[in-house]
Amino acid sequence: MPDVILVTGGTGLVGRAIQYVIETEPEGSRFGKKPGEKWVFASSSEADLRDIKETQKLFEKYKPTHVIHLAALVGGLFANMKYKATFLRDNTLINDNVLHTSHTAGTKKLVSCLSTCVFPDKVTYPLDETKIHEGLPHHSNFGYAHAKRMVDVANHAYKDQYGSNFTSAIPTNVFGQYDNYDLETAHVIPALIHKCYLAKKNGTPFVVGGTGKPLRQFIYSRDLAKLFIWQLREYDDVEPVILSVGEDEEVSIKQVADAIVKAVGFVGEYAFDATKADGQFRKPASNKKLLGLIGDFQFTPFDQALDESVQWFLQNYDTART
Ligand code: NDP
Repeated sequence: MPDVILVTGGTGLVGRAIQYVIETEPEGSRFGKKPGEKWVFASSSEADLRDIKETQKLFEKYKPTHVIHLAALVGGLFANMKYKATFLRDNTLINDNVLHTSHTAGTKKLVSCLSTCVFPDKVTYPLDETKIHEGLPHHSNFGYAHAKRMVDVANHAYKDQYGSNFTSAIPTNVFGQYDNYDLETAHVIPALIHKCYLAKKNGTPFVVGGTGKPLRQFIYSRDLAKLFIWQLREYDDVEPVILSVGEDEEVSIKQVADAIVKAVGFVGEYAFDATKADGQFRKPASNKKLLGLIGDFQFTPFDQALDESVQWFLQNYDTART
């Protein structure tokens, strides 16, 4: 029987990037499609994974041998602060349904997606895979973070009770094509790209919320896609792996905004609004475990990845999630 890989959340930022990599890398190569493999990229319209019956139907339809579980209610800082109960409940339901159905359907391997939000607020840096449960997460994304943490707990429980081959990935901040550009709910990079685009179009100032000083590690969705494919095929352990660029590649929000101004070609007034919340100042994560396991891996330079993402947004404004 050929392998069938089901990607939940297959129509989102990360799912689309996995589809792009699978379809464009040479067949049979490390990140390309293997002969006979079937990849399925599921959207919420095909199955609302908050519902166990719809989840079971999806698995019955495709009979996946492997699952990359990306589906989640995802949002930026402001959405996470405002809708804590919804982020907790929706993500808890989705994760429980996908993990349990993967178990009952006899799926051979499941890689679920966490986030660096799962880490404790008060923690020693850099973050690494051993520190997830060492204290409470930051209050701003309390609901989302707890729902995601429970996936690691569940992975261990399923392994201990049933011997399941379930594991998880912890990406840092992702950006790329097919991002969510809705100004109410977007993460920082797509929100700033959209704002800068509007400022240019309307001849208004480009105002960045916060001081511009916080530092973050950003990973290009197409790089992350390759890392997920690697983890699915080559990593068989329950413990999570941080999927990220190195700690020495942190970028300030001001550097991000500068690069966006350049890529959009914006020449108007450009300022920072320090009355808006900054979030955590920095939360560097170590990618030592990843690099020790994967061997040679080339990340796309940040400015190049950002420029590719901006150009995609400019060319797809009419159909992008705005
Ligand atoms: P997107 O918001 O771009 O995509 C979310 C995906 O999940 C979509 O395919 C969406 O389907 C699907 N989805 C949402 N709700 C449901 C539901 N109830 N039932 C079925 N499918 C659902 O997210 P990303 O691609 O950015 O995120 C992918 C994963 O990466 C998530 O688990 C997220 O937590 C994690 N992550 C993301 C980071 C980031 O910076 N973006 C950082 C760290 C982790 P549809 O389009 O049909 O609605």
